[in-house]
This record gives sequence, C-alpha cells and structure tokens, in this order.
Amino acid sequence: MIYLDNAATTAAFPEVAQVVQKYMCSEYGNPSSLHQLGVAAELTLRKSKKIIAKLLNCDSEAIVFTSGGTESNNAALLNRKFSTSTRPLHFITSEVEHSSVLRCFELLEGFGHAVSYLPFNRQTGIAVGDVVAALRPNTALISVMMVNNELGTINPIADIAKALRQRGYDGIFHSDATQAVGKLDVDMAQLGVDLLTASAHKFHGPKGVGILVVNSVGKLRPLIVGGGQQRNRRSGTENVAGIAGMAQALSMAEKMRGDSLAVMDYLREQLFDLAARIGGDHVVMLSDKKTSAPHINALAVKGIKSEVLLHALEENGVIVSSGSACHSNANKAISPVVKAIDLPPDYREGVIRISASHLTTRAQVESAVSIIEGTIRALIKTFGGSIE
Ligand code: PMP
Repeated sequence: MIYLDNAATTAAFPEVAQVVQKYMCSEYGNPSSLHQLGVAAELTLRKSKKIIAKLLNCDSEAIVFTSGGTESNNAALLNRKFSTSTRPLHFITSEVEHSSVLRCFELLEGFGHAVSYLPFNRQTGIAVGDVVAALRPNTALISVMMVNNELGTINPIADIAKALRQRGYDGIFHSDATQAVGKLDVDMAQLGVDLLTASAHKFHGPKGVGILVVNSVGKLRPLIVGGGQQRNRRSGTENVAGIAGMAQALSMAEKMRGDSLAVMDYLREQLFDLAARIGGDHVVMLSDKKTSAPHINALAVKGIKSEVLLHALEENGVIVSSGSACHSNANKAISPVVKAIDLPPDYREGVIRISASHLTTRAQVESAVSIIEGTIRALIKTFGGSIE
C-alpha cells in the first residue's frame, strides 16, 4: 500500500512513538504534582515548549498546548470576549477555511456579530487588498489559513499582516497553519500574526495534540477553564506524552524538510506529466505547479466521481482522498473549496487529493504515479471517454 493521504494525517515517526511510550509508561507524572515525577513532567513540558518555540521563532511563553487544530481554532475564535460582547462586532475570514474555523464564525454570527467571507483564487489565495477593503471600525478578529488543506494554495499571510498594521488595525490576526507547520518555513517573527494554529498529527506527531501560539500577551481569554494549567490559558492536565512526541516530530520534520521537499516536487512534476500524457481535457491539475504548498496536489478527472476513483485506486494499492477528508465523512456534498474555484461542472465531482509526507519515497512516487495513470485510463474507458 502506498499512502498518499498525508494532508488528512501522517504516520508517526517511530522515534515519536518511542518518546510517547516513555512519557506514558515511565515518566508519567502530572506536571502539577510537587513530587519528583511531577517535577520531571513539568521540565519535559518546558523543554518541549523551548524546542517548538525555537523552531517557530517565537517566545516559549507564547506556546499554548491544546488537543489539536480544531481546539486551537476554537480557542482563537470563540474567545469569551466575543461571545459575551453586547456590542456587535465584525470578523473577516475566507470562504475556504477549514470547518473548525467556519463553524466558529457561524456561532459568532448567531451571537449577533457580522462576518465577511472573502473570495479565494486557487493560484494566489486570498487577496491582501480584499482583507484591507473589508475592514470596519469594529473589526475584532481576522482569520486566514496559511495553506488551504484541499488545494495547497498558500495565502500571503505576512503581506496581509503588514497591510493591516499599515492601516492601523489593532484587532487580532489569526492564521490556521495546520497544513503549513513542518512543511513550510513558519516564522512567527516574520509572519506578524497574533495567533497561530498547528496540529501534531500533520507532521508525524501523535493525534490529539496541537498548539495555539499566542504572540501578544493578554490577547486570549481561555475557551477551556478549570484547574488553571498553562497559566490559565488552557486548563486540563497537560498531555505530556503527546507534547513531548510533538516536539520530537517537529524537530525531525524540520530537519528532513529539504530532502523531502525534493520528493514532493518530484511527485507534483510527475502528476503534471501524467495529466499531459493522458491528454485531452481528461485530467486537470488544480494545485499550482509553482505556488502551491509542496505536499498537496489536487486534481480533477472529467466525468468520473472521486469516490469511484478513490476506491479503484485503493484496490490497486494507492491511498488518496476525495477533496478534504474532514468533509467527506460528514457531508458528501461538494466542498466549499471546490465551489469557490471556477471548475466546470463535469469536473466538480471528480476531485481527488494526493498528498505526500516526509516519509514518502521516490520509489513510492514512481509506483503510485504509474498506478494512478493506469487506473484513470481504465476508468475513462469504462465510462465511455476516449483517450488520445
Ligand atoms: N485546519 C486545517 C487546515 C486542517 O487541515 C485540519 C485537519 N484536517 C484542522 C484544522 C483540524 O486539525 P485537527 O485534526 O488536529 O483537529
């Protein structure tokens, strides 16, 4: 089996699994306990924070550990300040954010606040000018993802932050960087965002653990309250094993980035060649060759449903996904991302996502591309299309 659904989740590095086991079975103390095991756990938390902060170029104290991307996004957007504000507020986001962002904005609309949903271009992402033009005197928070999880489009986050500062915007700027961390250079100092979301299972760490980087002190009120852990910013006994595993995973992903980017580029190149070889207008590459994030490739096959393609590929030994995995379980309808891009109706139901990881090899790319090509050709024949 060749696994190419790494935007949905990745296999943990074996070294990560070892770290997790160590902190689950041997050094399993509660960081709040005053005895030796507790103190050791607290030190592990601090060490993990330092490692992650260095890699993201931020202050250690800016790191808040969460249960993953969904919680980080909820904590950023459902800030209690907003839910309890009696003054109507305004928010800006894009129409192609992950559902863990879009659902929060729906809730905020339910509280009586207004939300502007910006349009999206699959090559260039969200336009800086559109964000600035949408600003209102009561804009309290802006949330724009760094990398779109379905197409790999990279949004100009640093440029947006700069433009907002120039306009004197003093609200919060959040970016969901779940698909970026571990693949792109994510440097908090250069980005200029206030809040940033990341999730360990996207970079070969454990599931159920993530980060919210809170760059400007005092800008976040907690979503989860209780024992006051993490300086009251996120209560609950810290997932020490998961956090230590996440730090290990991020260090390894960052070290491997150069080599694995070459394999990811190779996969993309091969997929563009495949589309050209099949010819006609059967296969359209939706991710941009140069500007998309390296690990995500979306393509659309004319007249063939993505589910059919996905299952045929699985039978032949290649695992991919149809659009976003987060959508396909709950809602079989066309995803908002596919709706947002200008894709002719013949292709809309035939979008698949082929995503690589740091563990993908050149040999896997070669076998997978040959299987994908054979499968698409066979399906086109079955469904009555002709191939030049
Ligand atoms: N944001 C984006 C862009 C994602 O791709 C995902 C995962 N599909 C999430 C948020 C949610 O992350 P998690 O699975 O850690 O809750």
